[in-house]
Amino acid sequence: MDVIRTIREMQAWSKERKREGKTIGIVPTMGCLHEGHLSLIDAARVHGADCVVVTIFVNPIQFAPNEDFVSYPRDFERDSALCAGKNVDAVFAPPVQEMYPAPVTCFVSERKLSKGLCAKTRPTHFDGVTTVVAKLFNAVLPDVAVFGQKDAQQARVLQRMVRDLNFPIRMVIAPIVREADGLAKSSRNRYLSETERRNTLVLSRSLKEAAGLVAGGETDLRKIVASIQEKIAAAGGKVDYVETVDAEELEPVEVKSDKPVMIALAAYFGNTRLIDNIIL
Ligand code: AMP
Repeated sequence: MDVIRTIREMQAWSKERKREGKTIGIVPTMGCLHEGHLSLIDAARVHGADCVVVTIFVNPIQFAPNEDFVSYPRDFERDSALCAGKNVDAVFAPPVQEMYPAPVTCFVSERKLSKGLCAKTRPTHFDGVTTVVAKLFNAVLPDVAVFGQKDAQQARVLQRMVRDLNFPIRMVIAPIVREADGLAKSSRNRYLSETERRNTLVLSRSLKEAAGLVAGGETDLRKIVASIQEKIAAAGGKVDYVETVDAEELEPVEVKSDKPVMIALAAYFGNTRLIDNIIL
């Protein structure tokens, strides 16, 4: 497995693979890898990638000044061992200085899907994500890119970027990988105390219960939202948002029809902000 630190070397590596007739899959991550990330490597292969490049880069411009950029967990040795164990072909892990040698004055900005949900409390986050992913695409030159449904809004925003800016890349959204008890796997779960960790079960559980109610004929999504909010508060969580939206366009939906609806939520347990979602 190759470990690549510069954009120029990454591009040369990918061009060489393409000359050999191979297709390249990219799995962008911020490291601190877990089974959720590793499932994306498998998905890249299933969707036709001959070579898989995992990128590990904690992207400063997607964090607000009050967020956890500095304390975000980093463990490159462990991450690269996990990638090697999955037969990843290359890890691209550029230093911040390589990605942002000068103050950034050019951003990629999506203007619709990136406005609601998480953007209400993280208004600059998605510009940071689209900008870094565009830069990673230009470094890795992938044919296939895999993202997780765990970060559903991010996945929709990036799909839209690829569509609207004509990146010649096939986008794959892989399902959420959960802990045995239902909590969506996340690098941030390690911030939780034992009690907080127990309390977070309310997230996946209340989403599942909501799905059950809708499957049983409930069409009033405002009731569903209210009941999830109550359950999270009762479990000691602080709701950031619980919303029902069109699963593709992310527009608010209040009455369930035949179209797929996503219930998306974010909540704090202590200082840790967790997100989860389910598609109905
Ligand atoms: P992150 O390192 O948190 O930026 O995540 C990198 C990629 O892994 C993103 O596409 C995430 O959506 C995806 N991912 C993170 N957690 C999970 C999970 N539990 N299941 C599936 N994909 C995930």
